Amino acid sequence: MSRRARAHVDLGAVERNARRLRGCAAADVLLCAVVKADGYGHGAVAVARAALAGGARWLAVATADEAVALRRELPEPPILVLGALDEPDLARALGVGADVVAWTPEFVRCAEALAGNGGARLHVKVDTGMGRLGARSREEALALAELIDRVAGVRLCGVMTHFATADAGDAHFAAQLASFSAIAGVVRARHPGVLVHAANSAAVLRAPAAHFDMVRCGVALYGLDPFQRDPAAARLEPALELRSYVARVARVEPGEAVGYGARFRPSAPTWVATVPIGYADGVRRTTGGGVDVLIGGRRRPLAGTVSMDSLGVDAGSHGDVRAGDEVVLIGARGRERILAEELAARHGTINYEVLCALGSRVERVYER
Ligand SMILES: *Cc1c(COP(=O)(O)O)cnc(C)c1O
Repeated sequence: MSRRARAHVDLGAVERNARRLRGCAAADVLLCAVVKADGYGHGAVAVARAALAGGARWLAVATADEAVALRRELPEPPILVLGALDEPDLARALGVGADVVAWTPEFVRCAEALAGNGGARLHVKVDTGMGRLGARSREEALALAELIDRVAGVRLCGVMTHFATADAGDAHFAAQLASFSAIAGVVRARHPGVLVHAANSAAVLRAPAAHFDMVRCGVALYGLDPFQRDPAAARLEPALELRSYVARVARVEPGEAVGYGARFRPSAPTWVATVPIGYADGVRRTTGGGVDVLIGGRRRPLAGTVSMDSLGVDAGSHGDVRAGDEVVLIGARGRERILAEELAARHGTINYEVLCALGSRVERVYER
C-alpha cells in the first residue's frame, strides 16, 4: 500500500459524531446522514455504515448515481436524493427505490409514468429563501402536495426546505424557518404521517425549532465545524487525516530556487523536503500563503508553489527531517494540529470544499 497520498478515516469518530448529532434533537427526531460527494471526500459507503451504527436512520445523496452506488452496498436504509433529477436520473433513482424531491407538477407526472408497482416516494421541496430549488410559494407547495396525494403511483412522503444562513442564525434564517413552519403545519394537517425536515448541521446544533421530524447532517458528521471554528467547541471529532511522506530532502542555498516559477528562494541555507502529493490529489495550489504541514510533530511551512503531484516543505536549517518521514497535511500530532478549518481560512474557502477536493488518487484507509 502506497504512503503517497492517504486519507485515514476514523469510522469510530463518524459514529460518535452521529450519536452526538442525534442526541442534539428530541428522542423521536430521525437523523439522516448526508453522504453526497462520496461522503464529503471520506468515502460514502463506509461513513454511511458508521453513521447508521451511530443512530442514523436515513441516508441522503445529491445525485441518482450516488443513490445507485450506495444502494448496491446498503439494501435496507431509506435513501433520499436531494438534488435536481432529469428523466433518466429519476428513472435510475426510482429504480433503486430511493426517495426523491419534487417541486413541479411535470416532475410528479414523470415520476408517475416511471414508477413501478412500488410507487414513487416524493418529498415536496419548498424554496423558502435559498433561491436554488423548490416550489416558490406556499400555494404552489400546497397544491403540489395535494396533487401527489391524489395521483396513483406516487406517494407523498415528506415536505422539506433548506436554509441559506443556518450558520449565521440571522433574520433571513428566522424568516425561512417561519415560512416553512407555516407551510409544513398545513401539509401535516392535511396529510398526516408526512415527514417534515429542514435542518442541516448548523441548524441541528443551534436551532431546535428547526428540527421537525428529521435532521439532515453532512459536515458535522465528519467532525467538521459548520461555523468554521474549532470542531471541539461543538464536541465534534474530525474523522479524517491526510498523510504523505518525505520523498527527498535537499539542502538549498541562498540564490537557489524551488518549484514552478522559482518562487521559493531562501535567504539563508535551509533543507527542503519534497512530498509526493499535489493539487491533483486535492491539495490547493498555493505559493506558501501561510500553509503548514506537520513533520515530526512540528509545523513546517510550504516552500514554493504546489505542483500537480508534489509539493515542497521548508524543513529548516537543523537537518532533522529525513526521507521517509511521515507528513501530516490535515490532522494532529502531539500538541500540534492542522484542521480543515485552518486550511479553509488560509485558502479563503470553507472546510466543506477542502474535504470535497480530495481526489480519487487519494487512498482511503479506514480505522476505528
Ligand atoms: C448538503 C445538504 C445538507 C447537509 O448540509 P450540511 O451543512 O453539510 O450539514 C442538508 N440538506 C441539503 C438539501 C443539502 O444539500
